[in-house]
Amino acid sequence: MYLYNSASRKKELFVPNSPDIVKMYTCGPTVYHFAHIGNLRSYIMEDILEKYLRYSGYNVKRVMNITDVGHLSSDADEGEDKMLKGARREHKTVMEIAAFYTDAFFDDCRKLNIKKPDVVEPATHCIEDYIRIITKLMDTGYAYFAGGNVYFDTSKLENYYVFNDFNAEDLAEGVREGVSSDPNKRNKNDFVLWFTKSKFEDQALKWDSPWGVGYPGWHIECSAISMKHLGEDLDIHCGGIDNAFPHHTNEIAQSEAYLGHKWCNWWMHVLHLNTTSGKMSKSKGEFLTVSLLEEKGYDPLAYRLFCLQSHYRKSLVFSWENLDNAQVAYNKLVTRIAALKPDDGEFDAEAAKALKEKFCAALDNDLNSSLAVTALYDVLKAKTNDATKLAVIEDFERVLSLGLLEKAAVKREALKKEAAAASGFTILSESGEADPAVEAKIQARQDAKKAKNFAEADRIRDELKAEGVELTDIPHGVKWRRI
Ligand code: AMP
Ligand code: ZN
Repeated sequence: MYLYNSASRKKELFVPNSPDIVKMYTCGPTVYHFAHIGNLRSYIMEDILEKYLRYSGYNVKRVMNITDVGHLSSDADEGEDKMLKGARREHKTVMEIAAFYTDAFFDDCRKLNIKKPDVVEPATHCIEDYIRIITKLMDTGYAYFAGGNVYFDTSKLENYYVFNDFNAEDLAEGVREGVSSDPNKRNKNDFVLWFTKSKFEDQALKWDSPWGVGYPGWHIECSAISMKHLGEDLDIHCGGIDNAFPHHTNEIAQSEAYLGHKWCNWWMHVLHLNTTSGKMSKSKGEFLTVSLLEEKGYDPLAYRLFCLQSHYRKSLVFSWENLDNAQVAYNKLVTRIAALKPDDGEFDAEAAKALKEKFCAALDNDLNSSLAVTALYDVLKAKTNDATKLAVIEDFERVLSLGLLEKAAVKREALKKEAAAASGFTILSESGEADPAVEAKIQARQDAKKAKNFAEADRIRDELKAEGVELTDIPHGVKWRRI
């Protein structure tokens, strides 16, 4: 499997540090508001990566933080804590806001078939870990105390800018977002590890520390949470592209300074979902959520398909027209799969192997999900029986997770009921219970009768009897009961 590594700027053969387990860390949401569908594009792609690693036979341990403290309005440690902003907006406490939006985030993930990571750790649970790391960074001269805060000294590193070739001036300008710079910093891109003094004295959550009562910076959270659950090395670290600088750059700086060795081998960044008017952003206040898509009548999984149809390293433009197209494509897929007959033929291993090869070749090439979706269409067009097609689709769905088989099963039942109603044939159970397996057999008996295959119709009646189900023919239908 080849994955693009933002650190080396090329596709590299993926080899985990240990053959037994892939250690994967993904930056979690800042829970001061709903996730927007842009954030969720990143989580969908990370979900595909995790599931494809598992599909390829790896064990994966995936860890994600929940940022419930320390993420200031600008990623460069300026402005107010986003959580406090959220609490004020809604007249609630910071912890109430965190609990509400954490639940809302996982609710959205469930609707999008995004698996919950093995470990989910709120940043406020790991204060001791931050203090331990910062203490060592102070002892070894990588950190300094100035004006009440502890800063990381980026000038102590030979190569601070891991992900890009921009010069320091440009980067510092890029992240300042118009907020005045901090005079305590020795170098423009030094960042805060621990705050005891910020302009915002009403910070809600504070903890005791060797440097005074305060709270951690955002970047230290991910380094510490990763090390707490995954140890001193990491195979893959993911996030949206905006995380590359300064967040991930700072994570690498402090982690490697603390550990004294290389920390993470692969960095994977998902490009942004943009609207036609620009970047989607939570801080702007107006943004698209999964609930809004549902209110407008879209299936969240059609949005998942929309994301999979493009490569994660290309930015994606959202428009209602594009989503309409994805919804139409999704509905057509469900309809075509519903038309496949589960009992048509025997599983054809050769045909399945060829279809699977194309799917794996797509995902092995830096997670080309759009070609993987094409491989799914190839299954529908393939010259093989329906039983094989359904088995292959089920296999692909371990990664794609589009809910296609579940939706197709519902559609198949609805079609059967429609057909039965149109033919005036009703199936009634004496107790009022519904049993799709029994109903399917009764329908098959009716179909056999219609085709004048009375031997088959009698065989089905006997088979049901052996299962303890007795049939009585009634005008325009059949009544059944358990005996
Ligand atoms: P946040 O909740 O702001 O900390 O962001 C959660 C995740 O969403 C991070 O990995 C961000 O890099 C990512 N992200 C933010 N905006 C977008 C966007 N427009 N498209 C894709 N990913 C995004
Ligand atoms: Zn992070």
